[in-house]
Amino acid sequence: MKTIPHWINGSPATGPSTKTAPVFNPATGHQQAQGTLGTPTDIDTAVQAAATAFETWSESSLTRRTQVMFAFRQLLLEHEEELGRIISAEHGKTVADARGEIARGREVVEFACGLGDTLKGSYSDQVSRGVDVHNFRQPLGVVAGITPFNFPAMVPLWMHPIAIATGNTFVLKPSERDPSAANFVAGLYQRAGLPDGVFNVVHGGKEAVDAILTHPGIEAVSFVGSTPIATYVHQQATAHGKRVQALGGAKNHAVVLPDADLEFAAGHITAGAYGSAGERCMAVSVTVAVGSAADDLVTALERKAREITVGPGNAPDTDMGPLVTKAAQERVENAVGTAAAQGATVVVDGRGLKIDGHESGFFTGPSLLDHVTTDMDAYQEELFGPVLAVVRVETLDEAIALINANPYGNGTALFTGSGEAARRFQRRTRVGMIGVNVPVPVPMAYYSFGGWKDSLIGDSPIHGPEGIRFYTRPKVVTTRWPQPATRHAAADFAFPTSS
Ligand code: NAD
Repeated sequence: MKTIPHWINGSPATGPSTKTAPVFNPATGHQQAQGTLGTPTDIDTAVQAAATAFETWSESSLTRRTQVMFAFRQLLLEHEEELGRIISAEHGKTVADARGEIARGREVVEFACGLGDTLKGSYSDQVSRGVDVHNFRQPLGVVAGITPFNFPAMVPLWMHPIAIATGNTFVLKPSERDPSAANFVAGLYQRAGLPDGVFNVVHGGKEAVDAILTHPGIEAVSFVGSTPIATYVHQQATAHGKRVQALGGAKNHAVVLPDADLEFAAGHITAGAYGSAGERCMAVSVTVAVGSAADDLVTALERKAREITVGPGNAPDTDMGPLVTKAAQERVENAVGTAAAQGATVVVDGRGLKIDGHESGFFTGPSLLDHVTTDMDAYQEELFGPVLAVVRVETLDEAIALINANPYGNGTALFTGSGEAARRFQRRTRVGMIGVNVPVPVPMAYYSFGGWKDSLIGDSPIHGPEGIRFYTRPKVVTTRWPQPATRHAAADFAFPTSS
C-alpha cells in the first residue's frame, strides 16, 4: 500500500508516527493509499524548518519572490492535467472540474505575481517641517493553512501564494481524505526555485490541527472547512495569540423571479447545484422560486437533473462523479429519505444509483426536492451533496427575508431581467458574495472571498487585498534628517505636534 508522506524542508518525510488514514478512490470504493497522520512532533519539525527558512526568505527581494511566483504559475499551467487527475482520483470530481479548480487557484498566483504593485506603501512629504512619513508592510513569520477535502488544490492556493510572496513561510495541513495534491504542489514550488523550508506539508487530522493551533512558533492560521471546526479553530488559535481567518460552511440560495429566462436559470442552477456532486461551499443547495416561476422552473430543473451523466471522474462524458466517502454517500441518501418523510416532494430521487463496473463506488444521483419548507432538515442542514431543495415564496422581499434568516451567508444568486430587483437584492441580502444571473459567484482572485454570518468566523476574508493585509503587518516610519543649522536646537519636552 502506497504511503503518502509529509513534505518538510524540501523532502518527503514520514516522521515518527505510524498512524495512517485510508485514502480511497471514491469511484471504485477501494482504498488506494494511506496518508500519514502527523503528530505534534511533525508539526514542530515543519515549523522549525519554516522558521529557519523565514530568516532568508523574508530578506529576499520582492523581485526574486515574484520571479518564483511566475515560474510556479507556469508549472501549474503545464501540469494542470496531471494534477487534475491526481485530484479526481482521490476526491472523485471530474478531471475537467479539477482542472477548473486549479485554474481558479492559479489566478491567486497571478495576483501574487503583481505584488510589486499591490504591496506598495505610501509616502507623505513634509508632514511637519523637515519631517516625512512613509509606511510599508512586513511578513508575519511562519503561518499555517488548514484546508478541506473539497478543493485540495484551490483552497490552499487561496492562501500560500500570497503568504509566500509577501515573505512568510508556510505549513499546510491539507485534508486527510485527498492529501496527494498538496505534495505535488510542493514539488512544483521546489522546481520553481522556492528555497527548501518555505513551503511545508504535514498531513493529519485533529492531532496535527491542535498542534498548529497551540504552537508558539506559528503567527497566523488560515482555515477553510465546516462551521463547527472553523469556530473551534478561531477560538483556539486566537486564545493562543494568533491571527486567524476561518471560513465555514454554507447554504446558498438561488432566487428565481418570474421575469427571469427560466431555461437559462434552470441550466445554470443545475450546474451550480450538481457540479462536483454538490461538494462546493458555493454550491446552490436551495432554489427559491418566486410566485408564478415555480411550476415551470421545477419542470425545467427536473428535466435537466435527469440529463446529468453520473460516472467516474476520469471518464470523459461524466458530468458528476461520486461523493468523497461512503459516509458522505449515506448521509446524503438518508437526508433525501428524511425530506420525503417530512413532507417534501421528491421530484428526482438519486438514491441507490449503481454505475456499471463501479458498483462499490460512493455514487448517488442528483436529487431534486420540491415544496421544501424552512423547518425541514433538508433546508436547515448543509447536506454537501447533489441535492437541490426548492422553496416556494410569493415575493422577492419574502425571498430576501428567508435568506437573511438563514444562519449561513456565503453566496447567493438572483435570476431576473430587472435591474431594480437585482439592485434591491444585492443591497439587502446579508450574504458576502452575490451573483446576478450568475449561480456560483466566486470572486476573482484580486477581490477577496468570504461569506457573512456562520460562513465566516471572525472578520477576515481570504485572498485578494484581504490576503495581503492578513499575511503582513503595517509599519509606519517618521523620518527627520536635520540640517546642520537646526541640528542643535533644543528638543521640545511637550508631546510632539506638527508645525
Ligand atoms: P472539515 O471541517 O471536516 O475539515 C476541514 C479541515 O479541518 C480538515 O483539514 C480536517 O482535517 C480538519 N478537521 C476536521 N475535524 C477536525 C476536528 N475535530 N478538529 C480539528 N480539525 C479538524 O471540512 P471538510 O468536510 O473537509 O470540507 C467541507 C466543509 O468545508 C463544508 O462545510 C464546506 O462548506 C466547507 N468549505 C467552505 C469553504 C468556504 O470558503 N467558506 C470552502 C470550501 C469548503
